[in-house]
Amino acid sequence: MKKVRGIFLKNDLEIASMRQACRIVAIILGELREAVRPGVKTMLFEEIARKRCDDFKVKPAFLGMYGFPFALCCSVNEEVVHGFPSDRVLVPGDLVSFDMGVVYDGFYGDAATTAVVGEPDEARAKLLDVTRESLAQGIEQAVAGNDLYDISRAVQKYVEGHGLSVVRRFVGHGIGRKLHEKPEIPNFEPKGAPRVPLMPGMVLAIEPMVTAGGPDVEVLSDNWTAVTKDRSLSAHFEHTVAVTRNGPRILSLPD
Ligand code: MG
Repeated sequence: MKKVRGIFLKNDLEIASMRQACRIVAIILGELREAVRPGVKTMLFEEIARKRCDDFKVKPAFLGMYGFPFALCCSVNEEVVHGFPSDRVLVPGDLVSFDMGVVYDGFYGDAATTAVVGEPDEARAKLLDVTRESLAQGIEQAVAGNDLYDISRAVQKYVEGHGLSVVRRFVGHGIGRKLHEKPEIPNFEPKGAPRVPLMPGMVLAIEPMVTAGGPDVEVLSDNWTAVTKDRSLSAHFEHTVAVTRNGPRILSLPD
């Protein structure tokens, strides 16, 4: 595989495998969203995720990765990322973020989405809309010849322009034969960082994590669950995106 500045470039065949990995993730995330309702325990989502990985004959990417104990990251309300599925029972108004990856044909796919339990109030609807749209704004910049940090700037500008905060501690990433490849993709413009020109064949997991309060997070004593320091609500959307000659191609769509 060709490598430029430490970033692997994928050929069309490799991107086709990544598309399959990502498509399966997108289908499972859609099914998880449909299973969100009051009264269910979040462990239900882990069960669905594992069963569907079996059905698709793919390996859940996160299970055992750096010691993570589940197939699915399930983060509720002030939990930003890396939450554990558990016996917690969902109630109306809860925000549930699902982050999931699978391995297909040696390639990783990675995506995330946030759903609300029941009908969102204005604040929750805004948080979801702004986070989802900030991802779209970032993806629009995933164009050959652009700079990597054009993505970062677009996400940050959209989020902060709506009075919300981007989390800085966790960032997006290149993806391929490994879940986390170069480059890191911050959701804010890093000061003084050298230009990283985007090229066809780069595949990027772009994943804004947005809070309704401040940008700071802390990790709970389980050593995984990241929560907002001020315990404000958080949302997370992620797509795996290929930079192509014809613009950005979102690989993590269900069809
Ligand atoms: Mg990711």
